[in-house]
Amino acid sequence: MEISLRNQVAVVTGASSGIGSGIAKSLASAGAAVIVNHSSERSLDEAQAVLKEITDAGGNGITYQCDVSREDQVIKMFQDTVSQFGTVDILINNAGIQKDSKFTEMTLDQWNAVIGVNLTGQFLCAREAIKEFLRRGIDPSRSIACGKIIHISSVHEIIPWAGHANYAASKGAVRMLMQTLAQEYGADKIRVNSICPGAIQTPINKDAWSTQEALSSLLSLIPYNRIGQPQDIGNLAAFLASDLADYITGTSIFVDGAMTTFESFSTGG
Ligand code: NAP
Repeated sequence: MEISLRNQVAVVTGASSGIGSGIAKSLASAGAAVIVNHSSERSLDEAQAVLKEITDAGGNGITYQCDVSREDQVIKMFQDTVSQFGTVDILINNAGIQKDSKFTEMTLDQWNAVIGVNLTGQFLCAREAIKEFLRRGIDPSRSIACGKIIHISSVHEIIPWAGHANYAASKGAVRMLMQTLAQEYGADKIRVNSICPGAIQTPINKDAWSTQEALSSLLSLIPYNRIGQPQDIGNLAAFLASDLADYITGTSIFVDGAMTTFESFSTGG
């Protein structure tokens, strides 16, 4: 059994770092051409380093700067991708940020920034992707499905998170966005799912793993007793995007070392 994404084109948002970079490399190693999206000039070097790893391993792709919270930029990213690669088969809606604050001190800017990237960004990219899937239609030489969308959500789509109301609200909303799209476009053979990572070692949560004390406290929340790696998410993303997962749509899959079994109840609660 082989995971193959040959002849397919994948847009991976926020692929210059962390989970997105892991997913981009996994999809490329399964044969997809990958659009390595990043948001700004600042992260161009990182995006190019991810692309270099892909091409050094024999893969194909480009880097593409686009702020996913900006409608004009998202529309152009999809137009340019279709011009250069012919179509889009897979969207990985991964770009995400945190702007943490105690709720009563949270500014509207902090709220809007997180909702803008984590939710509106996923809406805009999904809309442009689905328009392109429908325009192309099913092409069995590419995939049994007309298109695949994978939202990168979080365990915080179900675990409330004090001090992170904007982030938790964005991820809770992503769950409903994902399920609604799976329902609305199921008959068109578009598959839509979410991956919900637990604690994955990336820059977004450096404070939670960069000291021994922080790491021990984090591991106390994870029955499997290790922090996750971007590759753990990339492995599932490649499978979910492939035809091996053709009957999987409209669901959230947690990749969290059993964090969502609520470790604190392991001694009786
Ligand atoms: P990360 O290492 O900080 O990477 C975030 C990525 O998002 C970067 O490539 C960043 O690129 C990009 N990005 C941010 N704002 C953007 C925008 N406006 N437009 C396009 N790209 C943008 O974080 P990560 O941990 O890999 O997080 C990736 C996703 O996983 C997020 O949705 C996050 O919520 C989710 N997640 C992470 C964890 C975890 O434990 N790490 C757990 C659950 C869920 P630039 O540098 O170019 O802005």
